[in-house]
Amino acid sequence: MLFKKYHIVIFKDKQGTCRKVGLRGGVFLLFIFLFAGMAAGNVFLWQRYAQSMKVEKSLSLAEKTIHEQKTQLLGLAQKLGALQKSLSRIHDFDSKLRVMIDLDQDSSQTVTPKGGIQSETFSNGYLPLYRQELLARKMHSFLKQLNVEARLEEVKQQEILAQLREKNDLLESTPSIWPTTGWVTSPFGWRTSPFTGKREHHPGIDISAPPGTPIYAPAKGKVILSGNRHDGYGVQVKLYHGGNTVTRYAHMKRSAVKQGQEVTRGELIGYVGNSGRSTGPHLHYEVRKAEVAVNPMKFILN
Ligand SMILES: [Zn+2]
Repeated sequence: MLFKKYHIVIFKDKQGTCRKVGLRGGVFLLFIFLFAGMAAGNVFLWQRYAQSMKVEKSLSLAEKTIHEQKTQLLGLAQKLGALQKSLSRIHDFDSKLRVMIDLDQDSSQTVTPKGGIQSETFSNGYLPLYRQELLARKMHSFLKQLNVEARLEEVKQQEILAQLREKNDLLESTPSIWPTTGWVTSPFGWRTSPFTGKREHHPGIDISAPPGTPIYAPAKGKVILSGNRHDGYGVQVKLYHGGNTVTRYAHMKRSAVKQGQEVTRGELIGYVGNSGRSTGPHLHYEVRKAEVAVNPMKFILN
């Protein structure tokens, strides 16, 4: 039945002239198969197309996510850097406090930040994927380390606090602020003498300021000397802060306190001048511990 002869009739125009094309059954079947094959092929291609569109969409979504993660990572790294900086600031302050209250120095010097992430790493903002992963791992270990350091710092500060509570008068009577406002023109330590030209040890700091600038006590104390002893220091004031700490203020224009008087931190004790062996108006400020001159900068926290 299928292999009978088939006829395809094509009508040409209105007159009804037509053409008959005779086809053998086999050829007709071939045509049908060909047509079905093409249709199936089309469906297949269309499906592939739809699929690839889907993949492309999710790809761009993934790219977007990666970009967002990159930005987050960079922001996180910057925050970590800031954290490290403030931690080292706390550490410095801690060391200063320790010097002031004579706490053992050994333990405060043991931890030094290492393996931190350099800021240059993030300068160009572009990070390939493998470096992103590396960075994430680095940050993870860095965070761990920061955590340990922060806890250590906490313990150390608790220790300081305990010490301070124990000697509750200590903080009040420890020099900790600038005695006057001006510029340090000569630091503590070895220098060439402005008088002899020879090397000499400068036992304090020189703070240059206009004559008459007020000088304030940097801590609670007792005036143990006030006036001019004609020893080169000119008009001077010496304060005893308890323990073994004494501070000296020299080359004053005028003293504002009397011997035996008690002063508190921030109280006026005199005025900047040019008395004694001096080359210009300035305050010579000394801090002595058990008679030994120490660097006054270590006793200035503000
Ligand atoms: Zn001096």
